[in-house]
Amino acid sequence: MEGTRRIWVGLAVLAASIVLAFVVLWPRLAPREPAPRGPQPFVRADLPRIDVHVHVPPSRTADAVRIFAEQGVSLAINASGGEPDGGGLEEQIAASNAVGHRMLDYCNIDWSQVEDEGFVAYATHALDRCREEGAVGLKIYKALGLGYELSDGSLLAIDDARLDPVFAHAGELGLPVLIHSGDPQAFFRPPTPDNERYAELSAHPGWSFYGLRENGLPWPSWQEVFDQFERRVARNPGTHFLGAHFGNAPEEPETVARMLEQYPNLYVETAARVPEMGRFRASRMREIFVRFHDRILFGTDFQMGSRGQYVLGSSGSEPDPPSRIPFFYEATFRYFETGDRGFAHPTPIQGDWTIDGIALPHDVLADFYAHNAERLFHITIPAPEDRR
Ligand SMILES: [Zn+2]
Repeated sequence: MEGTRRIWVGLAVLAASIVLAFVVLWPRLAPREPAPRGPQPFVRADLPRIDVHVHVPPSRTADAVRIFAEQGVSLAINASGGEPDGGGLEEQIAASNAVGHRMLDYCNIDWSQVEDEGFVAYATHALDRCREEGAVGLKIYKALGLGYELSDGSLLAIDDARLDPVFAHAGELGLPVLIHSGDPQAFFRPPTPDNERYAELSAHPGWSFYGLRENGLPWPSWQEVFDQFERRVARNPGTHFLGAHFGNAPEEPETVARMLEQYPNLYVETAARVPEMGRFRASRMREIFVRFHDRILFGTDFQMGSRGQYVLGSSGSEPDPPSRIPFFYEATFRYFETGDRGFAHPTPIQGDWTIDGIALPHDVLADFYAHNAERLFHITIPAPEDRR
């Protein structure tokens, strides 16, 4: 009797074990239904990022750096650093120092005195002062080529020979030149409803370079301004140029690739042009980024005004609400990091289209986001213990 009981108990334990094993293992062994392919939440790559093109005033530096950290940007370089010796640069550098160097600054200089005898002396001295005060580069606005009117009514050209020694001196000082030349090609076409940037031109009529200037002389064409930029890069091989807004030709990535091939002193950054770049064939854009992985840098053109107003790439007649900031960064990173197709780009007013991501390999992303900026500007991202 005892033996029979033991057998029954043994069988019961065995049966319980089989049931238990089935319950535990079945979910792992059963053929699985594919998960429904809804929109996948985007998670940005775990990489340090340096944004080489932002605009922030001294009074907003601490706020801006907080936003950058939240959005995965470890360090930013401010294109609105100001001019040395009382033109705002000292104040901005002090503000940047106060945030543990998580912001660095370009300086600006005044090109309007080019016809004066002492211009070259002024400009080269100003660059010396930029370096001494702690600027890491020189930023040149699109006004060079489109804004400085000379005494004969013409516009100061980017490749004007009088500027040669100034660009050469920037090279001698090791100050890279972030240069914005021209503007979107659509801004040089009639600002009519069929212009693809009509919304933006309607909000900012002054951004149009079509037709005649106020003095009755014609605006240069987009191509004329771009050719001046190219001749300047060619003329100063000892100076590092960082072509803003994807080399000032986001509509023509093949032109940008041709120039990167031709001029080893040229670098480009991506500020405010993901919407335009994202229209181009993603596979070819990826090839360009891989081919020039050491000379394409990450920039956004994030702008913050002294009253805290934001411009995220571009805006309408009103500044952008702060609620748009996370989307702006996410759409930007998504373009570089994923192969997603047909998603909304970061700056709606730049055009009514969607973009395709270029899925950069991890090592290319690491160069693009940080290593290239570290090499070009001779900087390093502050270690966490240095941050205040
Ligand atoms: Zn800018």
